[in-house]
Amino acid sequence: MSSPIVVLSSSSSSLEETGWESESYSPFKGKPTVKSTKKSEVIKKLFTKEKSPDGPSKQNEITIMIAGVKVNLPVNPYGTQKALIHQVIKTIKAGQNCLLESPTGSGKTLALLCGTLAWLQAEKERINKLQMESCFEEIFENKMDDSAGNANNRKHVDNPFTFEVSFAKPEYGKKSIYSSPKKSDSPPKHYAMSSGSPGTHGATSIDEEQSQTRKKYKAENITNISDSPRSPSNSQNPPKHERVPVVYYGTRTHKQLQQVIKEFKRTVYCKEIRMSILAGRDRTCLMPFDRKIWKTKDDMCAECIKTKSSLMNTSSPQTSSCKFYDNRMSLTHSNLPPAFDIEDLVEAGAKLKACPYFAAKSMAAKAKIIFCPYNYLINPFIRERMRINLADNIVVIDEGHNIEDICRDEATCTIERRRISEAVDQLQYAKRYVKMGQDEAARGETIDFFIKTLQIWDKCLIEQSDRVSRENTDMWNMNEFMAMLNENGIGQNNYHNFNFHLSKLLRMQDDLYGVGQHTIALLETMDSALGYLFKDECKHAEDFVPMLLKGDDSRALYRRRSYTGEFKGANISIRLLCMSPAVLFEGLTKARSIILASGTLSPVGSMKHELGAEFNVSCLNHVISRERVWIGTLRNCESSEQLKCTKDNMEKKQVQDSIGKAILRVCDVTPHGVLCFHSSYTSMRLLHQRWQQTGLWDKLNSLKYIFKESDNTTDHDEIMKEYYSAAEVDRGAILFAVYRGKVSEGMDFRDRQARAVVTIGVPFPTIGDKMVTEKMKYNDKHSNGKKLMRGWDWYNVQAFRAMNQAIGRCVRHLNDWGAVLMIDERIAEQRNLEYLSKWVRDFLGNNHFTFDELMHRQNSLTRFMENMSKE
Ligand code: SF4
Repeated sequence: MSSPIVVLSSSSSSLEETGWESESYSPFKGKPTVKSTKKSEVIKKLFTKEKSPDGPSKQNEITIMIAGVKVNLPVNPYGTQKALIHQVIKTIKAGQNCLLESPTGSGKTLALLCGTLAWLQAEKERINKLQMESCFEEIFENKMDDSAGNANNRKHVDNPFTFEVSFAKPEYGKKSIYSSPKKSDSPPKHYAMSSGSPGTHGATSIDEEQSQTRKKYKAENITNISDSPRSPSNSQNPPKHERVPVVYYGTRTHKQLQQVIKEFKRTVYCKEIRMSILAGRDRTCLMPFDRKIWKTKDDMCAECIKTKSSLMNTSSPQTSSCKFYDNRMSLTHSNLPPAFDIEDLVEAGAKLKACPYFAAKSMAAKAKIIFCPYNYLINPFIRERMRINLADNIVVIDEGHNIEDICRDEATCTIERRRISEAVDQLQYAKRYVKMGQDEAARGETIDFFIKTLQIWDKCLIEQSDRVSRENTDMWNMNEFMAMLNENGIGQNNYHNFNFHLSKLLRMQDDLYGVGQHTIALLETMDSALGYLFKDECKHAEDFVPMLLKGDDSRALYRRRSYTGEFKGANISIRLLCMSPAVLFEGLTKARSIILASGTLSPVGSMKHELGAEFNVSCLNHVISRERVWIGTLRNCESSEQLKCTKDNMEKKQVQDSIGKAILRVCDVTPHGVLCFHSSYTSMRLLHQRWQQTGLWDKLNSLKYIFKESDNTTDHDEIMKEYYSAAEVDRGAILFAVYRGKVSEGMDFRDRQARAVVTIGVPFPTIGDKMVTEKMKYNDKHSNGKKLMRGWDWYNVQAFRAMNQAIGRCVRHLNDWGAVLMIDERIAEQRNLEYLSKWVRDFLGNNHFTFDELMHRQNSLTRFMENMSKE
């Protein structure tokens, strides 16, 4: 046997820095002379990080030990930020989950990033150190064996252990001592992709996208939702495959992500920890999109990336019809700044003529922090497509107050009869071509299976059409629905076949002619619907309510597709309304830790039970001081009648006029920007029409430039740009918006952009909405067993969470200031005060105004504005 190939060069200056120089040590030269330097000290010195000249700037950087971890921050943190970081680190260390309520403006995002990434950095160093110790153990043992002259019993060291290999700073996604030359190309054992295991981020950089992802589509996608148990790695003797987790950082919108990435850019970690961002083709595709040819960009992409050789059945080079796809690998981290958002990504892709969509996915495989909208983390189909693997990784959900709604929406499935009809047509067409190809029998069997199954679904839906003849909807009892499925052979016993044939169909999708993405989407929707119902012996069946709908319906929440083909007859749909967010949230619990943060999570107890997961809870105070915020309510109209902004009352002229005058008063005393929130666009239009008739609109216009939030996405950015600049000038501006809209959630209005917020009414959900009434019934039924809050409480919480969100637009940082006027008598009721965010409740106190008090020249609001304007 040859000698162990272990070389530690003593000539390296870097080695001198480690303290090894005095020993002149080589494992080949007799007994090591390490008496004066203990092994642990040597290792400690090896891993004392010296920043390279082009490393992150230390200027303005604050370093603090929090919860035993060295945390670097770009600013001196507020007390609440330290508390938040402490909670984050503690939670991740323990492999637990945490709900963090921290008011907007308290620097929550920066604290979340710094806390998580500081732990990640420390974890990387811990693993490096342990593994290095393990290597040294081996070397020392071998050396001792050597020195005992027992060469034949030496342990064999497989790989060259050179200085370059051992001491080069390990770079994420690249080979290091932890991924030895022979093994580094394979993902760690517990992380390897296997059939039925979703995602590969953090493990492999293979980028065989779309078709490949679908080809690997699991036979047990839905039944695997709960996946493997978490396993925090705090052991002092970790297994050799231990790895640094990946952080998935989700917010609700891309706009919010842009803000988060701005914060990430401020941190020292941005230069040390690689990021990527995931987004759909709608935002990233570079191919010109022709609506006359394609229904969606996904459809276009699926066709364009098919290799020409596969289409033409030739052996010509594998190129596709999309030059950006062929060139996708040229867009990498090296072409981008350390922190980049979607705009940067698309710009770089356009310059390099490389597809940003596929490049971002590819870069995600090499990143340690991945930003994405949080429905990507929740929805198992998107997780699969985006190769998101949550197992043992860290999930941070920022601005997560809507998580319950998003989980329920994502799990709600709609199956439309006309889509079934379209799918049958397409499959019949595809079957003709199958005859000309290979594996004809197997393929034909799968296509026949779906044609037959879809025809049964079609027949069943037609049979139900009488139930919805008078009204457009009808609720269906779950037992009856399940019995109908089973009696027709499309129920539980058939589900396994459905799932099996779907994976086969997805594997052969590239060679199927005429089968569009909408057919695939329909089958996936059916698969997920059945999967949810039959999973784990139907444990979630009672979490769904089947509903029949008649007529065209565009709210196919799971897969929105339009069908323009011929369809004759009544369009009936079956919708499975999901009542419990826990159905989908269960899929997240395989993560090592979930940190769910927002300014408005209360009541957190209810949220824990709705999500069906264990959480530690931490509620932090606002950083702003009392004298910088004014909060009050308006209780009555000009006529002294109580001012209740119910739907009926809002039609009364005296209510409309009193609200108008109150807003005028606020605009009169407030400098610069004012935000005003309505319950709905209808209510907004109603009031504005009245004010235009009475002349109040003109008065308002003389005080402020007037802007209205648009429900049209394309107008939104332009309107906001104009509002922001108008708010800066002396006259200032008022922006009318709606609760739960873009302006009320996730947009930043700091300083002059919002010196006052006026809220009109309380945004209670529509009581006629079936989803709302069924959810209330569901909560009543499960208030004991699942510890859910009762239906009416849930209803109130929905309203006040939306209201708290809108109020949160006002004060955004320690030195900000602003006023909040809540117009509605009901807010002052004790039972409703409890639903307000704690900081709002604290600052409100007994500040409940009558109309006359508000109009009075000298009141606390005018004094507040006068005082603060002097700053
Ligand atoms: S590969 Fe990229 S650029 Fe080409 S069609 Fe697909 S998403 Fe668009």
